[in-house]
Amino acid sequence: MHISQNDLQLLKNKLLSEEKTTSETLASFASKNKNANREYTSEFPTFGDANDEDAQTSAVEEYGTRLSAERALEERLRAIEEALTHIEKGSYGRCSNCKQDIPLARLNVSPEAELCGKCK
Ligand SMILES: [Zn+2]
Repeated sequence: MHISQNDLQLLKNKLLSEEKTTSETLASFASKNKNANREYTSEFPTFGDANDEDAQTSAVEEYGTRLSAERALEERLRAIEEALTHIEKGSYGRCSNCKQDIPLARLNVSPEAELCGKCK
């Protein structure tokens, strides 16, 4: 392991707070699926009157935006949890492709990174 205990603790704290904010952002427009871990379902927004076509078009657009945000955030959450598991197992900071150490500078910027700069 090329990361000191001290740095590892800092990265872990960063991951835990990112996990919290990412889940909170998701929860603001999507409901958590109780049967599956990390699965969220975007809620269809209610805009204006049901007979107001413009409002309904906007609602459909907003729903599309939510769906893509939901996917991106779920993916991020997955990577964060994966990184936390690697910390527990002592295998954190290794590129999942070439198995080389991911430089600390890169982990400081994105602690959930799974690939080194070359494999990215
Ligand atoms: Zn690599």
